[in-house]
Amino acid sequence: MIDFEISPQVKRGLKAAREVNVNLIRKLSGYYDEYEHEHDDIKEADEINKASLKIMAAMAPKPGEEAAKGAAVGGIIIAEERAWGDPGLSLGASTSGLGNAAIGAVATDEQKKRFGSKYASMAITEPGAGSDTAAITTTAKLDPDTNEWIINGEKIFITGGARSQLVVIWATLDKSMGRAAIKSFVVEKGTPGMTLSKLENKLGIRASDTASIVFEDCRIPYENILGSPEIKPKKTTASGFKGVMKTFDVTRPAVAAQAIGVAQAALDFTKEKLEEEGFQFPYDRGQHSLTATQRDIMDMEVNLEAARLLTWRAASMLETGQRNSLEASFGKAKAGRAATLVCQKCVALLGPLGYSREWLLEKFMRDCKITDIFEGTGQIQMLIIARNILGFSREMLK
Ligand SMILES: Cc1cc2nc3c(=O)[nH]c(=O)nc-3n(C[C@H](O)[C@H](O)[C@H](O)COP(=O)(O)OP(=O)(O)OC[C@H]3O[C@@H](n4cnc5c(N)ncnc54)[C@H](O)[C@@H]3O)c2cc1C
Repeated sequence: MIDFEISPQVKRGLKAAREVNVNLIRKLSGYYDEYEHEHDDIKEADEINKASLKIMAAMAPKPGEEAAKGAAVGGIIIAEERAWGDPGLSLGASTSGLGNAAIGAVATDEQKKRFGSKYASMAITEPGAGSDTAAITTTAKLDPDTNEWIINGEKIFITGGARSQLVVIWATLDKSMGRAAIKSFVVEKGTPGMTLSKLENKLGIRASDTASIVFEDCRIPYENILGSPEIKPKKTTASGFKGVMKTFDVTRPAVAAQAIGVAQAALDFTKEKLEEEGFQFPYDRGQHSLTATQRDIMDMEVNLEAARLLTWRAASMLETGQRNSLEASFGKAKAGRAATLVCQKCVALLGPLGYSREWLLEKFMRDCKITDIFEGTGQIQMLIIARNILGFSREMLK
């Protein structure tokens, strides 16, 4: 049975997060959207990180209180609220990077201890490898004399790549061994041989940086590999790759939550402005008696709730140790698409108020688009879903 009742701990976390959003994040949102790379870091980064700790503290069990069940769903609910405040700023907060999710999913206890408190970005994409993640060419070669990995290659479009303290990268141990040889590694910022080569000027999530990094004979400790260095024989190629793909089981629900949070922000603003104009949204009347605008609003609410429930289900499966790849794709496909449509419709409903940069609604529309692109585009999620449902292999359905 799935129980989605929100625990008192998460309710407290939500309350704390909303206060942080209203009193801090929303006040910075427009500025960092406008001046994307003006500062090396968010000037208020310390304040944001302190606020993150406050949210975590609010969620800690009180003396005598039972520990909350459902940490993964709780985390997703908080991630949605943080994105409601600003998805770009929430991406840069302490340990909420996509690389942190990867570390959380596959790192050993020792690695979690070493890396767990640092902000980690995730670098998979390369100039020649986007949706087809198995096409990456960045290499990791072991130097037997020093017991270090030597990394060579280029990674592009790394969210938080400039500001993060760690970058989790995918690299191949042996290109001729195909997907089985792809492993993930943690590279600490400032490691010699690691060069920031570009910062993107973007459509949305402009408060976060998006960087390219070149690795030239970049040496990292042997212990920085996530998972086993063993390359399984060809027959079990797919199972080797599944190790690194596990990351997506965690990051896709997180990105879906981000999509829902931004769209909810757009919808809340739109309803607020319409209510100021005297619109009402009665939930106890038949569809035939509603205006088109009332129906549009309710339709958007239904779509976001559907996306939310799919995402929560994917997260809840993580808690019980079930493989959730299909469910994570369900949630991300639905949330990315629903959020994009909701934000566009909200801008349309409010007209000039939606389009003007005086308000944040047009920014929400720009911000939400990325959720249908990174961590696997909407089309790729549909491909995964179709393969799973039809029982087709990667080769049978490309
Ligand atoms: C702002 C931003 C932040 C990003 N952050 C990160 C990050 O932190 N880490 C990281 O590793 N990457 C990141 N990315 C990269 C992102 O994950 C890729 O852009 C995405 O995976 C798509 O890859 P691509 O751009 O190479 O497009 P392509 O793979 O070339 O795809 C182009 C289009 O074709 C479609 N398509 C491709 N293959 C198929 C298929 N088989 N069937 C149907 N349609 C298909 C895609 O859906 C897409 O619409 C980021 C990108 C952006 C824009």
